[in-house]
Amino acid sequence: MAGIVYLIGAGPGDPGLLTLKGCKCIKKADVIVYDYLADKKLLAYAKKNAELIYVGKKANNHTMKQEDINQVLVNKAKMGKIVARLKGGDPFVFGRGGEEALALKKAGQIFEVIPGVTSAISAAAYAGIPVTHRKVAASFAVITGHEDPSRKESGLNWKNLAVGIDTLVFLMGVGNLPHITKQLIANGRAADTPAALVRWGTKQQQEVLVTTVANAAEDVYKYGLKPPAVFIVGDVVKLRNDLRWFDNKRLFGRKIIVTRARQQASKLTAKLTELGAECIEAPSIQIQDPDDSFASMDKAISNISTYNWLVFTSTNGVDRFFARLYSKDMDVRKLSDIKVAAIGSSTAKSLLKYGIKADIVPQEFRAEAIIEKIMPYIAKNIKILIPRAKQAREILPEELRKAGVVVDVVQCYKTVTADFDYSGIVEKLQNHEINMITFTSSSTVTNFIKLINNKVSLLDNVIKACIGPITAETCKANRIKPDIIAQTYTIDGLVKAIEEFTD
Ligand code: SAH
Repeated sequence: MAGIVYLIGAGPGDPGLLTLKGCKCIKKADVIVYDYLADKKLLAYAKKNAELIYVGKKANNHTMKQEDINQVLVNKAKMGKIVARLKGGDPFVFGRGGEEALALKKAGQIFEVIPGVTSAISAAAYAGIPVTHRKVAASFAVITGHEDPSRKESGLNWKNLAVGIDTLVFLMGVGNLPHITKQLIANGRAADTPAALVRWGTKQQQEVLVTTVANAAEDVYKYGLKPPAVFIVGDVVKLRNDLRWFDNKRLFGRKIIVTRARQQASKLTAKLTELGAECIEAPSIQIQDPDDSFASMDKAISNISTYNWLVFTSTNGVDRFFARLYSKDMDVRKLSDIKVAAIGSSTAKSLLKYGIKADIVPQEFRAEAIIEKIMPYIAKNIKILIPRAKQAREILPEELRKAGVVVDVVQCYKTVTADFDYSGIVEKLQNHEINMITFTSSSTVTNFIKLINNKVSLLDNVIKACIGPITAETCKANRIKPDIIAQTYTIDGLVKAIEEFTD
């Protein structure tokens, strides 16, 4: 079978700027070859067993020579592999994608090019700078800033560039700004022309420095701005004052730790990222099968017709219960005579996935509130099944029993400390690099504390955000003072509380 290499533009950094076609190719690739400009988050689309090859390049620190990279691509293609070659931005804009394509062509291997969103335009856009504007700039050029200043003959036509084009975008130019700006001014560009540098454009770490052509080199030196950055020259830079939209978002520049279990973190992460935050997923818990390997659950399922009510207290409980039901060759029809209660709207929503609309949905976890809702339905000899976590609080079954109900509590999962290396997180906390931490259940709190070896003082200067009062109580019991407690005990409620919090 013939192999193929897809030269894929991975976009400038924001993982959402990968094209659909690029994403499809990553998903089907046997081998993924990537470098430091391609965002690592894109690797999450790769097949489980895909081979990942890092060929990262940074100035002065070449991990692999270009010829060697070409050779890797050729060899893998020859072996019949589907290869996704991820390149930052667009593969044919200063990415040496042309060279890689030529090497493949020479070796008789098939390739396709999937253009990407280039940093030249997108880093500017995320800084609120349009490279053209009907009244301000009718042309733009993308220029290498990496020209060797000691070269006698410049490959660039500085005269035409300096005065012939409205907006200039230099890539790879940070180290070379004294030369670039000198050439521009010497060739007729006004020294006070607005200019900007955008570092790590489109990412949560984006930095923007607004200056002028005359001051750019000195300002960059003073500010200590490092590559990778684009250098934008032209009157369009002024539009940033009005068009800035990304790096002024509510949570921009905030680093937030998300302690939820890995499989459940994505919704919270996505919402906080949308508000501009940089999320660091550090699961403190993970979900495992119950201690008795589902024995009590199986028993309850085989007697399911004897129950009058099913009470679900979490999404995990719902998913686990139905997975087990299905595994016994049963389905939702077995529950047709049973009433269902879901605690919290998220639990109710997960039930809908299985075709069940909960009869009652108490909004809060307080046992009294739940009992109050169920009370009108309670008759003598009523039997209730509660499939839930091992560590759940006893108060709900106890109160129900007091009301004269037969309650069977079965364990359908347990929450254990995550198998996750926390050393990087501890280091970030020690270096005061973290602004906020989110706790979405009591178990995320207690297991987080275990993972940081009880050093709760690491959180002293970090904003602590809790999903609700019970989680907040667990914090307090462990000498952690919560700063944010959501009013609605859902992920959306938590995000809203974080958004509204001002420190
Ligand atoms: N093919 C890439 C460019 C590769 S050259 C593209 O189309 O974007 C590498 C240069 O691109 C860097 O030195 C820097 O100038 C620029 N660059 C790439 N990603 C960037 C980003 N996220 N923010 C700012 N500049 C970036």
